[in-house]
Amino acid sequence: MTARNFLLVGLTGGIATGKSTVSAMFRARGCIVIDADILAREVVEPGQPAYERIVAAFGPRVVAPDGALDRKALGSIVFADPQRRKELEAITHPEIRARFAARLAELTEQGFDGIVIFDAAVMIESGNYKNMDRMVVVTADAEAQVRRQRERDGASVEAATRRIASQMPLAEKVKLADHVIDNAGAREATAARVAEVHEALLEDLAARRR
Ligand code: ADP
Repeated sequence: MTARNFLLVGLTGGIATGKSTVSAMFRARGCIVIDADILAREVVEPGQPAYERIVAAFGPRVVAPDGALDRKALGSIVFADPQRRKELEAITHPEIRARFAARLAELTEQGFDGIVIFDAAVMIESGNYKNMDRMVVVTADAEAQVRRQRERDGASVEAATRRIASQMPLAEKVKLADHVIDNAGAREATAARVAEVHEALLEDLAARRR
């Protein structure tokens, strides 16, 4: 097995702090982005092994008329029942991990020597941050997190506040960060900070080659 020549960078944050926004900025700068949400969607596509196992475990009520998985129906089942959530994750998580590993193997094989951003919401909670070369955490103040959830998701102040409270505190995530990107202000300020962090990551990559 050949060693990888790229820097693997974990990107996380809190709800509506701007992780997707920052990840798009890194992509625009030429980084390769692997999105955990997309991997999670791919592994449950019809024809994938996880699809069959989920339908067997949860029944036809989680299948939409077009044959795809009804993620909303599945979501409401596991949201209400932690045991069922565990059952679902026991099916999907190994598949997601395998897909992620396959993507990294492909990039290694190709000799990719830039920055790979792994965009994942619960990377710190899951312990997967330990597999990253560097960690970047996107922050915003709670007020902005509430405002942006209201604008994006139509959430009430109460629901938005509850979601923030149900997550691991941002301050805990920041402790594990090599770089913090504060996205409480204007997008332009965030883009400038992303450029700085990108430079620092490229520098780390170059230092590793020396
Ligand atoms: P996350 O991926 O962390 O949940 P998003 O990147 O989706 O967060 O951002 C949450 C919402 O806030 C989105 O609707 C996004 O367009 C908006 N947003 C993100 N950053 C800013 C910013 N700096 N100023 C204003 N709105 C922003």
